[in-house]
Amino acid sequence: IGFYSSCKDKNDGEENYLNPNLSVDVRVENLLSQMTLEEKIAQMCQYVGPEHIREAEMVMSEKDLHDNDAMGYYPGLSVEDLEDMTRKGMVGSFLHVKTPEEANHLQKLARESRLKIPVLIGIDAIHGNALNVGATVYPTPIGMASTWEPALVERSARETALEMRAMGAQWAFTPNIDIARDARWGRVGETFGEDPHLVSEMGVAMIQGMQGDNFTGEDKVIACAKHLIAGSEPVNGLNAAPMDVSERTLREVFLPPYQAAIDANVFSMMAAHNELNGVPCHSNHYIMTELMRNEMGFDGFFVSDWMDIERLVDLHFVAETEKEACYLSVDAGMDMHMHGPRFHEPVKELVEEGRLSEERINQSVRKILEAKFRLGLFENPFTDLEMAKKQIFAKEHQQTALDMARKSIVLLKNENILPINTTKYRRILVTGPNANNQTIMGDWSAKQPDENVLTIFEGLKQEAPANCKLSFYNCGETLLSIEDSKIAKAASLAKNHDLTIVVVGENSMRYKWDDKTCGENTDRSNIQLPGKQQELVEALCKSGKPVVVVLVNGRPLGVEWIANNVSALLEAWEPGSFGGQALAEILFGKFNPSAKLPISIPRNAGQIQTVYNHKPSQYFHKYKADESSALFPFGYGLSYTNFEYSNIKLSKERVKKNESVQLSVQLTNVGNRRGDEIVQLYIRDEYSSVTRPVKELKAFKKIDLAPNESSVLEFDISPKMLEFYDINMNKKVEAGKFIVMIGGSSLDEDLHKLTFEVIK
Ligand code: BGC
Repeated sequence: IGFYSSCKDKNDGEENYLNPNLSVDVRVENLLSQMTLEEKIAQMCQYVGPEHIREAEMVMSEKDLHDNDAMGYYPGLSVEDLEDMTRKGMVGSFLHVKTPEEANHLQKLARESRLKIPVLIGIDAIHGNALNVGATVYPTPIGMASTWEPALVERSARETALEMRAMGAQWAFTPNIDIARDARWGRVGETFGEDPHLVSEMGVAMIQGMQGDNFTGEDKVIACAKHLIAGSEPVNGLNAAPMDVSERTLREVFLPPYQAAIDANVFSMMAAHNELNGVPCHSNHYIMTELMRNEMGFDGFFVSDWMDIERLVDLHFVAETEKEACYLSVDAGMDMHMHGPRFHEPVKELVEEGRLSEERINQSVRKILEAKFRLGLFENPFTDLEMAKKQIFAKEHQQTALDMARKSIVLLKNENILPINTTKYRRILVTGPNANNQTIMGDWSAKQPDENVLTIFEGLKQEAPANCKLSFYNCGETLLSIEDSKIAKAASLAKNHDLTIVVVGENSMRYKWDDKTCGENTDRSNIQLPGKQQELVEALCKSGKPVVVVLVNGRPLGVEWIANNVSALLEAWEPGSFGGQALAEILFGKFNPSAKLPISIPRNAGQIQTVYNHKPSQYFHKYKADESSALFPFGYGLSYTNFEYSNIKLSKERVKKNESVQLSVQLTNVGNRRGDEIVQLYIRDEYSSVTRPVKELKAFKKIDLAPNESSVLEFDISPKMLEFYDINMNKKVEAGKFIVMIGGSSLDEDLHKLTFEVIK
C-alpha cells in the first residue's frame, strides 16, 4: 500500500492498475494496454530460481550442465543475466525458489522494472511445501487418499498455502489428479489412486484448501491440476511414453477429476509429458482448448511441464524447430512456458510474422496478470521473514501432519498380533532399510532437518510402553545394498527376540538419485520389493517368531508371499514428518487404524491393469495357473474393531429418471475399541446399451463409533450417479435395474446389495 501511495499522486491513469480499489478486470486491462509485446510475452516465461541454478552449477560438471538442462541450467545465461532480465520485466514467473530471502530479492528486482509487475513463484508443494527445508511434510497424496477424509486434505492444503506464502511462493503445482492404474509408473504415490470419484473429491479438497475463495488474500495460493491428460497410463508404465486412450475411457475415467477441479475454480493446469492418441499433450488443441476451455469451462491458465515444449522437437518429432514447437503449443492453448530462455524470442517472432495474433498473447497474459492481482502481489509481493519463522512447521501444522499420518496407514493383515501385547512380546527387534531414515518423507521433498522428523524407529522408541525393550539392527540403508551377511545377522537376532518389526519398501528421495526406486522417472518393469528385501523378510520369518512387516513405498508392491507368510502387514505409504509416531501408535494400540486402500494392489506386474471398477467380461477367463484377483482390493483396510451393517433400506424401489433415491444404513461398532469406519457406496447399472463397470464408487462417508454405539447414515442417490455415456457419447440415465452396494470395501463379500428400478 505504501508503494501504491508513492505513485498515485501522478494520477495520470497510467498507473490505475496499481490502485487496489479498482476491480481486477479494470486493472488487468489498464496494465495490458500499456505493455509492449515483449513485456507481454515475458509474462508467459518462467525460469528456475537463481539459487537452484547456482546449486546445479556446483554439483554438475560443465559437460553435464550442457547435456542436462533438466537441472535448470541455461547455457549462455548467467545468474546475473537472469537477475538483469527480472529487473527489465522480462520474467513472468520463477519456480523452485529456495528461500524467502531469495523470493524477496526477486520481487525487489521485478519492482525495479518499468511496469513493476511482480513475479509469480511456483513450487511442487504436493504434500506440504516439502521441497523447502524446514517445512511440515504431510503424507504423500496416495496416503492422503487412504484417509478418505477430504476435510483433512483441505486442512493440510490450507496450511501448506500458509507455509508457501511464508516462503514467498504463491503457486503450488498440485493436485496431481492423474488416475493411477499402472503400478509400474513411478509417480503413483503423487496421485490419489485409481478411482475417478475418490480422486475428484481429494483433488477438490486440495484446490479449496490452497485457493480458498478465489485465492484473494495473503494466505492463499493458486493450485494446478495436472497432468493433462492420462499421463499416468503411458505404454509399459514408462513416464512420458505414449498413451492411447479411447474417448470412452478418457471421459469415463480420466476426465471426471478435471471437471471437478474446474468446477472448484482451479486456476491453472499443467500439460502431461506424453502424447495422447498421436498428438503430444503440449500441442494438443483438442485437449486444452476444445475440451478444457470450450466444453468443460476452464477459466484459468495452462502451464507447460518441464521443457516439454522443447521436446515437441526432440522427443515427439512433431516440430522441426523450437520456434515451430512454440507455435504449436501456444496455438493449442498454452499460456506459460516452464522454463527457460527458449520461448520468448521465437514467440515474439511468430507474432511479428502474423502467425500468432497479439490477441492470442493477450489472452494468456490477462489470466496470468489476473492471478497476480488476485493474489495481492501488486500490493505486497514480499514475505515477512519474521512471520515466515512462525508459519513454517507451526505446531498446528505438525498436529495435522500427525493426524493425517495416523489415518493414512492401512492395516492389510493382522493375525491376532496387533496391537502388540508387550507383556507377551517384550523384546522387539526393529530392522529393514526404511526403518530409520527419511524414506517416509516421499517424493518432492528435500532432506528435512533430523529434528523435524520422527523416523519409524524413533517413533517406536517414543511410543513403546516401558516394559518393552526395543533394539535396532541396521541391515543396510539403501535398498539395493542389503548384503547376505546382514540378512543372516538380522535372522539370528530375530531368534533372540520375541517379535520383529521389519520396514521394507522403496525409496523416493530425489536428493539420493542413485538409490531411488520410486518417484518421477523411476518406473519399474516389476513391482516386487527391490533388492534383497524379500530375502530379508523370508529369513526373519524362519526365526519362528512373529514378524510384522511395514511397507514404506509410493506405489502398490507385489508382496503376495509376504502377505501369506507374516503375522501382520501394514501399508504406511510415505507418511511424512510424523510417520514414525503415527505408525508406532498403531502398532502399540494407541490409535485404531482406519485407512482404506485408494488403489488395488496387484500380485505382480503381469496383472496390471487390476482395478475394482472393471467391465463384467474381465474375469470370464481367469489366468490358467495364477491368481486373477487383486492381492488387496480398492477400499480395503482393517481395524482393531468390527462394524456391523444393518437395517439397509432404500426410500423407493422404482424411480423416474430425474428422481433421487435415499439409502439408509445403520452402522454399529460391534468390537471393543472405538474406531472409524469408511462406508462405501457403489452402483452398478445391470443391463445397459454399452458395457458398464461391475461397480463404481459413487459416495462414501466416514463415521467414528464407540464400542456398541450405532448410528444411521443416509446417502442420496442422485440421477447424476446413474448417468453414463451412451453410444453417441451423450450422458444419460437408462431405464432398468440398478444395484446399490454398501459396505467397508469394494470386495463383493464385504458389500450388502439392494436393487431399485429406473422407470421410463
Ligand atoms: C513434473 C511436474 C512438476 C515439474 C516442476 C516435472 O518434471 O512432471 O509434475 O510440476 O516437473 O517441478
